[in-house]
Amino acid sequence: MSRFFTERLSSLEAYVPGEQPKDMKYIKLNTNESPFPPSPSVIEAAKEEAGRLQLYSDPECTPLVEKFAELYGIQKDRVIFSNGSDEVLNFAFMAFFDENRPAAFPDISYGFYPVFARLNRIAYEEIPLREDFSVNYKDYVGIGKNVVIANPNAPTGLSLTLTEVEEIVKSNPDNIVIIDEAYVDFGGVSAIPLTYKYGNLIVTGTFSKSRSLAGARLGFGVACPELIRDLNTIKYSTNPYNVNRMTMMAGYRALCDNGYYMDNCKTVMENREYTKHALRALGFTVTDSMANFLFAAHPRLDGEEYYSELRKRGILVRHFSKERIKQYNRITVGTREEMDALLRATEEIIKEKSK
Ligand code: PMP
Repeated sequence: MSRFFTERLSSLEAYVPGEQPKDMKYIKLNTNESPFPPSPSVIEAAKEEAGRLQLYSDPECTPLVEKFAELYGIQKDRVIFSNGSDEVLNFAFMAFFDENRPAAFPDISYGFYPVFARLNRIAYEEIPLREDFSVNYKDYVGIGKNVVIANPNAPTGLSLTLTEVEEIVKSNPDNIVIIDEAYVDFGGVSAIPLTYKYGNLIVTGTFSKSRSLAGARLGFGVACPELIRDLNTIKYSTNPYNVNRMTMMAGYRALCDNGYYMDNCKTVMENREYTKHALRALGFTVTDSMANFLFAAHPRLDGEEYYSELRKRGILVRHFSKERIKQYNRITVGTREEMDALLRATEEIIKEKSK
């Protein structure tokens, strides 16, 4: 840290993204990307738009907003687009959280929540998950703090029901509840319809996982028009052109090609169930994930060792050093071939361990 770094943020610990090593070609199962490329018309749209990069992008994201509103059956003033959903999450922390409205989120969840809280100098409470890693919604009922819950949660993949989400939202009318639906397209149920009923609910989503656009950076928030206006106040005070031209047109085309992406999600879900059962047959404890990843631990295999043995064999998964989950690894669900390679390597590692 230089002597110029502001004292205000001197204790900030930045988010650590999943590794992207360049030393060899890995099977990448560590950052929850889609194993499938964007649809051909998305690639075409991005290429075509590259020829207009001398011009600023449309700050209102008009084509995206129109198509999204049509596809999701909502009004156009109920959505905001952002540079990945990380950005809209940060906008929400900036807009709605302060000393009177501190944050509450699960102790095991997306690692960016505490970073956003510290960046915006907001107090936060980390509420322990149950022993089985599920969120107990009752912990948040009437909590009187702004709530942030990933549903399905990461890295566990476990989901709350819509009724449980509604209980949390309904019982905290003077606080904001953010439901982060980054992984909802892999079998979850969206809380977007509830945004019509509750003026304190924000649902966020991303094109990074189910729509194969992690590298384009496109996220969104859905809420009542008043909250969207507040989020736009932050957007226009930081970066009005937050969605670049190529991403905007790629996102638009991805919504037009929705069927392609939803078919891919179905394949990922099939591969997830296949891998989950195979890992369980090998003795792993695996949560019933509703996301595009599995969360798994083996009673005779140290979590970090499993991670490094896979890495040696050219397979990257995500290991977290947090005490409570350090025996676990988060494994992104890829193609069937990638999953078979993971299972073969896993069998080999277990065999070697028991020699
Ligand atoms: N929420 C959760 C729960 C995530 O796991 C991620 C991906 N790291 C994000 C939000 C952010 O995704 P993006 O910024 O790529 O939209």
